[in-house]
Amino acid sequence: MRKLSSALLASCLIAAPLLAQSAPAPAPAPVPVAKPPINTSQGYLKAGQAELARLEADKPNDRKARNVIIFIGDGMGVSTLTAGRIFEGQQLGLDGESYVAQMDLLPHTALVKTYSHDAQVPDSAPTATAIVAGVKTKNGVIGVGPEAIENDCAATAPFKVQSLFGMAEDRGLATGIVSTATITHATPAATYAHVAQRDWEVDANMPAAAKAAGCTDIARQMMEWPHGDGLEVMLGGGRQHFIPATMADPEYADKKGKRADGMNLAASWSAANPKGAYVWNRDSFAAVDPKKTTKLLGLFEPSHMQFEADRTAAGNKEPSLAEMTTKAIAMLSKNQKGYVLMVEAGRIDHAHHGGNARRALQDTVALNTALKAAMDQVDLRDTLIVVTSDHSHVFTIAGYPERGNPILGVVSAPIGTPSLAMDNKGYTTLGYANGPGAVNAAERPDPAKMDTEALNYRQQSLIPLMSETHGGDDVVARAAGPKAHLFKGTIEQNTIFHIMRAALGFK
Ligand SMILES: [Zn+2]
Repeated sequence: MRKLSSALLASCLIAAPLLAQSAPAPAPAPVPVAKPPINTSQGYLKAGQAELARLEADKPNDRKARNVIIFIGDGMGVSTLTAGRIFEGQQLGLDGESYVAQMDLLPHTALVKTYSHDAQVPDSAPTATAIVAGVKTKNGVIGVGPEAIENDCAATAPFKVQSLFGMAEDRGLATGIVSTATITHATPAATYAHVAQRDWEVDANMPAAAKAAGCTDIARQMMEWPHGDGLEVMLGGGRQHFIPATMADPEYADKKGKRADGMNLAASWSAANPKGAYVWNRDSFAAVDPKKTTKLLGLFEPSHMQFEADRTAAGNKEPSLAEMTTKAIAMLSKNQKGYVLMVEAGRIDHAHHGGNARRALQDTVALNTALKAAMDQVDLRDTLIVVTSDHSHVFTIAGYPERGNPILGVVSAPIGTPSLAMDNKGYTTLGYANGPGAVNAAERPDPAKMDTEALNYRQQSLIPLMSETHGGDDVVARAAGPKAHLFKGTIEQNTIFHIMRAALGFK
């Protein structure tokens, strides 16, 4: 069992490089040990009154939105929001429980029902389609309605649904997508692609029958998107989907592209966009001058970009989510008609699937940092900002840990004295109902004797599964700016699209 002071100190030291370039401001100077800032009746009453005044002062903004930015934390359910907030606060040396994360500052909130057309618990394909195109559809398909048949190109082809991004391009607005997952992954793909199978990110993943029926892979659909002048900003991972299987990756000599058709989509894009910039690392990305660049394609890894924890540890060779967001807004805001931008923290989901809460929480912090970067750049009088998730995970915050107990630690009350389960062993506050962290109950390792705050620590779970699963509980959507007040009550996920479209005044 680690003592609180050394644990907190250690986490602060580890976090220092991350915080140096991404701390939400204004933040008070970090202190080594957090103490709850409010510990009297008077203090709570005063804080409650201040919060009431903030709620009363907020007046609906019924203007038309020129711009819409939608942030999606993939797999960021409510327990992730809460644990992420506590983690972020504790990393800053503050009281985690009462800490106010950037997302918490958005004034309007709705609960969102995430079930898909055919599943109680959805995957990211139908949920992203609901968010950006306004219809619920089947698990596994993207940009097509519920009439689609998964894996069947010909049967699905007639049922394309139009995304807000296509509508924006058709009206002369600028569009952009940013994701830490592959840029062809389900969530960003829903903005531009129509496929009967979300795994068709590259032609090599497609069955011959689908190709013969005239279907194209997601990467190619991004490049051949028939709306306006195409996406102005595309930043994420997935480089292997854009270069031939015979071609070496520019960054990793031992890796190659994945395209079976021999096409070099990155090179074709560069040739077709002489005033655009194609970049694949942080330095070339940083060198792009938005004023002189018409379009920006950034593919920073062969597959997904790194988790935030690994990115900073590996020497910042990829831009952060906040850096990508900042540059995307600088690029898109040149368009006087406005823009629509999606920013996805795509790997919160992947860390959860691995039963690894720490990476999930660190990527949640990265989303807060990116949101802050956006809110510092835009005018909320004309820009609607929405922050939501596509679905939850089976991730829990358990037990009765004392206030201030490290969120990644074992349940302790008082701090430093682990609470014991019926097997006389400790247990972590964070856990999963299923996944790779499952343990044989009789041989359960004692977390109180382990470093549960280590980067690679896997929280224990009950049901053994290779990959921890999504959860079917509601997520939240939070918003600020024009029409943000329509985010209220409990809404269907596809209604998010309708609110954003109404805010933009698209008929
Ligand atoms: Zn997932």
